[in-house]
Amino acid sequence: MNISEFQFIDKIKDYFPSPESTLGIGDDCAVIPYSDEEFYLVTTDALIEDVHFSLSAISYKALGWKSVAVNLSDIAAMGGITKYLFISIAIPKKTNSDEIFSFYEGVKEIVSEYQVFLLGGDTTSSKDRLCISITAIGTCFKDKILLRTGAKPGDYIYVTGTLGDSSAGLLLSQSPKQSYSQSEEYLMNRHFHPTPRLKEINYLVNHYQLNSAIDISDGLSSDLNHILQGSQLGAKVNWTAIPKSKELQSVLKGKPLEEAVLNGGEDYEILFSSPDIIDLDLFFKETGTILSQIGFIHNEKGIGLTKEGFVEKLEPLGYDHFK
Ligand code: ADP
Ligand code: MG
Repeated sequence: MNISEFQFIDKIKDYFPSPESTLGIGDDCAVIPYSDEEFYLVTTDALIEDVHFSLSAISYKALGWKSVAVNLSDIAAMGGITKYLFISIAIPKKTNSDEIFSFYEGVKEIVSEYQVFLLGGDTTSSKDRLCISITAIGTCFKDKILLRTGAKPGDYIYVTGTLGDSSAGLLLSQSPKQSYSQSEEYLMNRHFHPTPRLKEINYLVNHYQLNSAIDISDGLSSDLNHILQGSQLGAKVNWTAIPKSKELQSVLKGKPLEEAVLNGGEDYEILFSSPDIIDLDLFFKETGTILSQIGFIHNEKGIGLTKEGFVEKLEPLGYDHFK
């Protein structure tokens, strides 16, 4: 493609305007009226063999978990709770039925943990690659919905968990070796077994005012940029405040560490803005997940990254499928 993935989506969005009182293309989920108090949230994500995953690195069971997790994460990013799933799968002729049942064991594990119901899907064959497309449906209270367009000047920027772990785990899995250190295992597990931050976001929307949110699928720089573009604002972010796991810091240093933390995708942490000073210790006590305040939103466009006393411009260099 001769345009970026995001330019492509913008064009499609102009072609297909949404009907009144719904929100179509442009956020983590589409928003559809449901009742006086609630919206339906709908999201769909495809995972394609040798684009999103390699069967030489991920087990079928982990793939089942992850394919669902990335969809549930989009519902968390809107402030919702998950309800239903549909799974379509195109299975190559070479695949063994045990392997596909193992995929569904992973699906079973995550739907049980998050109380989601698989209501349908579609099964076809494919020439030589496994393709998975999942649609998730959730709901959210109208006054709690979190949009990419809602950030306000003066909001603090927060992020759950730690950043960069998943992309470091992916790199490790791409050059297999005999044995891995505990830190390396941890990072690979973050890549293959991401946690949708549903309980965390539900705690937050029930205790604080949140103005905008997105899940980090493409990388901090790109996903923060989506909020800033949507809200027509800019941000200042402090490098030291961005949460980095001790495992990541023991495996990567210098530029590769910076690259993973700022531009690494697939952490599926939630990045959000809020005018409130959130009690980070209490949040950890309640959810078992760390929360960090990494900067603030302001009127000046772009992202300024403060590092060692200097401010540099942070360009959105996260994942783009057409790059
Ligand atoms: P996410 O990373 O949160 O899954 P995406 O970047 O995939 O979000 O999508 C952004 C928005 O663009 C969403 O509203 C999604 O539904 C929409 N979108 C993406 N691809 C297409 C497409 N081919 N046709 C219509 N809408 C699309
Ligand atoms: Mg998303």
